[in-house]
Amino acid sequence: MAVYNYDVVVIGTGPAGEGAAMNAAKHGKRVAVVEMQSSVGGNCTHKGTIPSKALRHAVKQIIQFNTNRMFRDIGEPRWFSFPKVLERSQRVIERQVQLRTNFYARNRVDVYFGKAQFLDSHTVMVRDPHNATEELRAQKIVIASGSRPYRPADINFRHPRVYCSDTVLTLGHTPRRLIIYGAGVIGCEYASIFSGLGVKVDLIDNRDRLLSFLDAEISDALSYHLRNNGVLIRHNEDYEKVEADEQGVTLSLKSGKKLRADAFLWCNGRTGNTDDIGLDLVGLEANGRGQLEVDQHYRTAVDHIYAVGDVIGWPSLASAAYDQGRSAAADILDDDEFRFVNEVPTGIYTIPEISSVGKTEHELTEAKIPYEVGQAFFKDTARAQITGETQGMLKILFHRETLELLGIHCFGDSSSEIVHIGQAIMNQPGENNTLRYFLNNTFNYPTMAEAYRVAALNGLNRIF
Ligand SMILES: Cc1cc2nc3c(=O)[nH]c(=O)nc-3n(C[C@H](O)[C@H](O)[C@H](O)COP(=O)(O)OP(=O)(O)OC[C@H]3O[C@@H](n4cnc5c(N)ncnc54)[C@H](O)[C@@H]3O)c2cc1C
Repeated sequence: MAVYNYDVVVIGTGPAGEGAAMNAAKHGKRVAVVEMQSSVGGNCTHKGTIPSKALRHAVKQIIQFNTNRMFRDIGEPRWFSFPKVLERSQRVIERQVQLRTNFYARNRVDVYFGKAQFLDSHTVMVRDPHNATEELRAQKIVIASGSRPYRPADINFRHPRVYCSDTVLTLGHTPRRLIIYGAGVIGCEYASIFSGLGVKVDLIDNRDRLLSFLDAEISDALSYHLRNNGVLIRHNEDYEKVEADEQGVTLSLKSGKKLRADAFLWCNGRTGNTDDIGLDLVGLEANGRGQLEVDQHYRTAVDHIYAVGDVIGWPSLASAAYDQGRSAAADILDDDEFRFVNEVPTGIYTIPEISSVGKTEHELTEAKIPYEVGQAFFKDTARAQITGETQGMLKILFHRETLELLGIHCFGDSSSEIVHIGQAIMNQPGENNTLRYFLNNTFNYPTMAEAYRVAALNGLNRIF
């Protein structure tokens, strides 16, 4: 077996692995990455963020065409099939893979395709699809192996009508009726995509409110818009069994209800990819969800083995995974710029989009912090009137006395970009981190910042 020596070996080429590999390589380390899929990019590129966002974008364009009166002059509303919309996302994936492959080549990072397994705490064996093996030895190892959908054993995922969030990307037709089980971020995003294609969706939630970590008003707005688009949401439900036959799928719920649809999409939970990478050979153990515990420097219980991205659990977002990977490499490099990634804004690509950062009203009330609310409704802003994307609201929570920004919550078109502006301001030191910033920096043009000015004025009107 050939043996190669490196400073750093990274397992996985998703955003977490890429972030770690690039940062280490750019600082002169000899780096190798190992990827068990046939191309780089991780589940993020092949099964998660990229395909779902490309799908969503195409569906949004279809909705716009079908609902905007201007387009009626050139044609009647048209419906597209799911496979047709999927084709577009495939092209984006190919371009992403090409781009990311070049990053590795340009930065002299060796890419090994095959499955990585620890032999000892400094050695990783790579087994390629033809069963050939190579040994990589390294001073530091970064586990960035990501996650996969959790699939309970009592559901037959081999049946052609039963899908998880990975296999839905192989769906070859447009079902008329779809049951989505699990109303987390992925379930809600797919509910938006399918209902946007005219599919009748039953969205089954285990809890009493959608995305309960969000500000209640935003989560209520999401429920309203999903319902408005034909999604039937059922809260506080648990499945008893899922039975698929040639004509459809029947979901029996513990509450006694039985639902029937053409297809079933499971979106309930994910598991870290740690089960067969030889953790026992290095003295590491994953928790019940396959996740690894790390300290504030992304080090596992074995000092020179790091873990980043979905494999460590929260927040399980591509953007955070990339930053965590960079940070782990910064720790390896003893770089002063190391930072633990903790303030992570949410970006949820439902239709409408949702984004938030900081505290919710509920959290501030619990903590007895005297806050006030400033709101801007998109329909009142010039930008929304121009784009026609009038559904939405920006909500700023700020301290009644100091005017310090405490939370920003938004739903509607480009919410993530809008919150991004606010977060940059929230992170500024001193006086700039207050509501005054928005007013002293008057943005009197129809950009996203207009919403902040309107919300700030609205909030100040409540206290002065
Ligand atoms: C449907 C869906 C939509 C999403 N939407 C968003 C979104 O809008 N915004 C957002 O920020 N996040 C989103 N996410 C989450 C995001 O995709 C993940 O947080 C991100 O992919 C995590 O990156 P990662 O590098 O940790 O792991 P991954 O992207 O999972 O990459 C891990 C890689 O490691 C490889 N690997 C695993 N084990 C081994 C091994 N033993 N040997 C070699 N290679 C191995 C895998 O093949 C994989 O390529 C979404 C996820 C899903 C499923």
